[in-house]
Amino acid sequence: MSLQSLQIEIEKTRSSAITDLQNITSEKIDFFKNKYLSRKGEIALLFEKLKILSVNDKKLAGKFLNELKTEVTSQFDSKLLELNDSSKQEEKLFDYSLPGRISSKGSLHPITQTMMEIKNIFNRMGFSSEYGPEIEDDFHNFSALNFPPDHPARDLQDTFFINQNILLRTHTTSVQIRAMETGKPPIRIIMPGRVFRNEAISARSYCLFHQVDGVYIDKKVSMADLKGTLINFAKQFYGNSIKFKIRPSYFPFTEPSLEMDISCFLCKSKGCRICKQSGWLEILGAGMIHPNVYKNVGLNKNEWNGFAFGMGIERITILRMGIDDIRMLYENDIRMLKQLA
Ligand SMILES: [Zn+2]
Repeated sequence: MSLQSLQIEIEKTRSSAITDLQNITSEKIDFFKNKYLSRKGEIALLFEKLKILSVNDKKLAGKFLNELKTEVTSQFDSKLLELNDSSKQEEKLFDYSLPGRISSKGSLHPITQTMMEIKNIFNRMGFSSEYGPEIEDDFHNFSALNFPPDHPARDLQDTFFINQNILLRTHTTSVQIRAMETGKPPIRIIMPGRVFRNEAISARSYCLFHQVDGVYIDKKVSMADLKGTLINFAKQFYGNSIKFKIRPSYFPFTEPSLEMDISCFLCKSKGCRICKQSGWLEILGAGMIHPNVYKNVGLNKNEWNGFAFGMGIERITILRMGIDDIRMLYENDIRMLKQLA
């Protein structure tokens, strides 16, 4: 190899390195370093070729090669700085005032909200919550609660029977029997849950709905305790200004039985579509526990007495929302749920 041909190679390497540097991007930095500046790079290979030159040629070629190396290295370094700067520049251009992505917020279903409020009020009055199975037997749902064998609720048209003895519970009152069987009084519980009725679906009835039942059994529990509890609840739930009235009623598992009405809070008792112009709303049923119920679960009716009450959550919820179709609660139309949230 002559000095002249080495010089040609040096020039070739110089021009290709400079072209590569002009088009360099951050991803190509390592590639460039390997190709020209590493130990086995093109420039190092040219230094290898010095060995075969004569002493005089070697001096001159060495000088050219050193110049090449310095030039490529310094241009590469300044290109690196440039690339770093431009990535910082991009960061500076980020617009911090851009509005963020809004994530949509969910809310509790109106039925859940009503249930939670009712539970909270009774929990504060010392009632704990108990839950029972939704698939129940005849004893806990009917017999133990003093339903006579020919009671209409035992009809296929009113109850979903799985077989003669097993059914979908028609009320959460069945949990009361389970609590009385297993726990020794005093018992002070509420029983929230889902119940099922074999009814035609309409604006006023659905095949399933939710109830909160309550029971208090102790020594010397009186009708006055029942009234006090219900009035306390009604005032906390519907507001202090409501008026109420108590009417006699009938349930197989309570004697005497009563129903409680409150003044219509939607029309301030003037009469509206929801209260059917009466100015009053039915909100719950209650009564003193029937002596037969104690007998059926093996408690002494002379030792214990107590009261029970129950209310339908859907009815209370639609009253508060001022809507008049129970089906709206089950359609889960997001547009309606958003309004009710
Ligand atoms: Zn009204």
